Amino acid sequence: MKIKELHIYQKDLPVVGGPYTMARANVYALDTTIVKLVTDTGLVGWGETCPVGPTYAEAHAEGARAALSAIGQGLIGQEIPHALAVHRAMNDLLNGHNYAKAAVDIAVHDVLGKHYGVSVCDLLGGAVTNRVPSYYATGVGAPDDIARLAKEKQAEGYPRLQIKVGGRDVAIDIETIRKVWETVGPTMRLAVDGNRGWTTRDVLRVSRECSDIPFIIEQPCNTIEEISSIRAQVNHAIYLDENAVDLATVIRASGTGICDGFGMKVTRIGGLHPMSVFRDICAARSMPHTCDDSWGGDFIAAACTHIGATVDARLCEGVWLAAPYIEGHYDTENGVKIENGHIAVPSGPGLGVTPDETLFGAPVASFG
Ligand SMILES: [Mg+2]
Repeated sequence: MKIKELHIYQKDLPVVGGPYTMARANVYALDTTIVKLVTDTGLVGWGETCPVGPTYAEAHAEGARAALSAIGQGLIGQEIPHALAVHRAMNDLLNGHNYAKAAVDIAVHDVLGKHYGVSVCDLLGGAVTNRVPSYYATGVGAPDDIARLAKEKQAEGYPRLQIKVGGRDVAIDIETIRKVWETVGPTMRLAVDGNRGWTTRDVLRVSRECSDIPFIIEQPCNTIEEISSIRAQVNHAIYLDENAVDLATVIRASGTGICDGFGMKVTRIGGLHPMSVFRDICAARSMPHTCDDSWGGDFIAAACTHIGATVDARLCEGVWLAAPYIEGHYDTENGVKIENGHIAVPSGPGLGVTPDETLFGAPVASFG
């Protein structure tokens, strides 16, 4: 089976009730990039990549489309025995740009699943559950508002809450964390995500003043060096997110004890194949992690849910989806949804998402 055609689409995904606020970004709408891959056997696979604005990661939407356009023609005629072969071909055409290559990787998994008549989670090692836990990320907000939201999400069945902090007086962050803890108590697992927005001084103060509250701290500072320098003085477990840019960094971080776990994005690491390698590295060191993406529609949501379903339940910190913040679905019947804080693994071969293609308009680039 070979790649016969590759089409690239652009679509805007407005944020419902926006903007969504993080320490270093306000997001009003997401610019997503969709890949349609057609094989010489007539199968169609879909992939997607959607940076959450230009300041969250070292990635931006136009960069994704430029990178995909640079490798598109070179992939025509490529055999698809496994995603690894396609990654090798992409790496021969372009160095880096994992987040763009991830869209092709996801489309390849969709096609391979359809070819073998199995679900993507089966290609990735097999699901350990058909109902994957999700978690809710609050956005940066006033302490009372975030505590109210936490109570609401607890009632909806979310097993975990991520409180966004940073970009303001750290005393307000501390007040927010304490109010949430007083509201939901130990019934929800808590993560506090600084999105690179805290100084080392802030982290030390938060950990000291909240030493009685159990939470993990996600990506508090901008660099691995800052986090390493205070690691031994912090009472809370630390996860890397934005800094975990590739498998080499994951090996370094887990090998040298910089962190206790990861927030991981499928597209940042390069797609589902590298994500499955990441999952296995984490399992070898008993490190918990999420299976998220920055943002995106149903293709991203399905990809995250399929890989999330294959993670040992003890280590699965949940799958975050943009679905609650985005209007509508690509697949109006089987769009990926969060219900009672959990996500049903899509059924059917491949990703299990059949889009209404008219939603994507004409391709911005086509190869083949
Ligand atoms: Mg994060």
